[in-house]
Amino acid sequence: MIILRPLCPACQTRTMLARITPGPSGFDIRTFECLACAHVHQRAVELVDPMKSPETARWLRGELHAPTSAMPALDDIAKAGSKTFDRVLSLVAALIVVAIIVVARY
Ligand SMILES: [Zn+2]
Repeated sequence: MIILRPLCPACQTRTMLARITPGPSGFDIRTFECLACAHVHQRAVELVDPMKSPETARWLRGELHAPTSAMPALDDIAKAGSKTFDRVLSLVAALIVVAIIVVARY
C-alpha cells in the first residue's frame, strides 16, 4: 500500500507520516509532521479492504500466476513409458556410462 505524504499546509514541504491511529468506523487517522516547521497535520483516511484495493486488482489482472501449467505433474514424470520418464531414464543411463568411463580411466 502506498501512503501519500501530503505537503505541509504551512510551508509546502513534504510531510512525514508520524503515526496511524484508529478513527471512526471505516477510517483511520493519519498524523503527518513537517520536519521543516514542525506543523502537525491530521487526515482521516477511508480504510480499503486490501483484496479490493486498486493495487490488488491490477496485480490480479497481471500475468502473475502459479507455475502449475508450466511444470509437468509428478504423476506424469513417474509414469513408466511417459516422455518425461524416458528422458530422465536416458539421462541417468548417460550419467552412469560417463561415470564408468571416468572410473575405468583411473
Ligand atoms: Zn511545514
